[in-house]
Amino acid sequence: MTTGEIIDGKAFAAGLRGRVAQGVAAFRAATGRAPGLAVVLVGEDPASQVYVRSKGRATIEAGMESFEHRLPADTGQAALIDLVMRLNEDDAVDGILVQLPLPPQISERAVIAALAPRKDVDGFHPENVGRLASGLEGFVPCTPLGCLMMLKDRLGDLAGLDAVVIGRSNIVGKPMAQLLLAESCTVTIAHSKSRDLPGIVGRADIVVAAVGRPQMVKGDWIKPGATVIDVGINRVSGDEEGKTKLVGDVDFAGALSHVGAITPVPGGVGPMTIAVLLRNTLVAAHRHAGIPYDKTAL
Ligand code: NAP
Repeated sequence: MTTGEIIDGKAFAAGLRGRVAQGVAAFRAATGRAPGLAVVLVGEDPASQVYVRSKGRATIEAGMESFEHRLPADTGQAALIDLVMRLNEDDAVDGILVQLPLPPQISERAVIAALAPRKDVDGFHPENVGRLASGLEGFVPCTPLGCLMMLKDRLGDLAGLDAVVIGRSNIVGKPMAQLLLAESCTVTIAHSKSRDLPGIVGRADIVVAAVGRPQMVKGDWIKPGATVIDVGINRVSGDEEGKTKLVGDVDFAGALSHVGAITPVPGGVGPMTIAVLLRNTLVAAHRHAGIPYDKTAL
């Protein structure tokens, strides 16, 4: 039985982070300052704290300046927007990331709308969403951009390929579909109301699963040789009692003999998200300073 290739997201992300670090060094030499990323965390959600810590660490490792703002869980919307406005005006800050989710008293929509689009390195501001949909330069959400980079690295030109994106969230599914459309794929977006998901998946050369349901996509749904990007991160009980483990949205073991290539969970899409955040921050810094950046490296 043949098996598909396992796409090493960790190695791919390490390569991108290395190129970003080189770009940061060149930026510092040209401008005399480091690119700066401000990360804002409201409250004490344990998962968010882990994300913010690793984003801060990665920012510093890349040679950038990291500004962390931790606010108490009872922070009001006006106070958070006030901070965002100050960061918008701060010349040492090239990128701003407000860690989601926010506590219930704060509207995420209002906070995202308050971000200066040129510093919105997460690509969630409506202006950047519109820019992606219109084919204009802007910022693209980190996770789908990382998925696209891995797809292009493996497949080269994607034009004409059938792509299915399962999931239609603003963070992953919709921007992923826009990116694939911009690459001239024939794109289908599936969601919880879609009928005959196995049939839809079975036609696709590219499958991106961003659902949040453990091992929902079965191996025998997949067209032989297709490339599968598994965005899902699901914690399930492990083999040993009391232990948990992470699995994706795709039945990895069942899919291996069908796919041409597949990203594992963990070690696939996950590591790319922070690497692309650093990349977006470096791009923001170049735009801010009015100097061109090496598009082929990033
Ligand atoms: P989300 O906002 O919950 O969206 C999930 C999507 O899946 C929705 O569009 C939903 O459809 C669809 N869906 C639910 N059940 C379905 C079914 N039975 N068949 C087909 N579609 C179904 O989730 P998200 O934020 O996009 O995240 C998706 C997954 O990716 C999660 O596991 C998350 O942890 C992971 N993730 C990973 C990274 C990373 O690796 N760095 C980053 C972001 C997210 P409806 O719209 O119809 O409800």
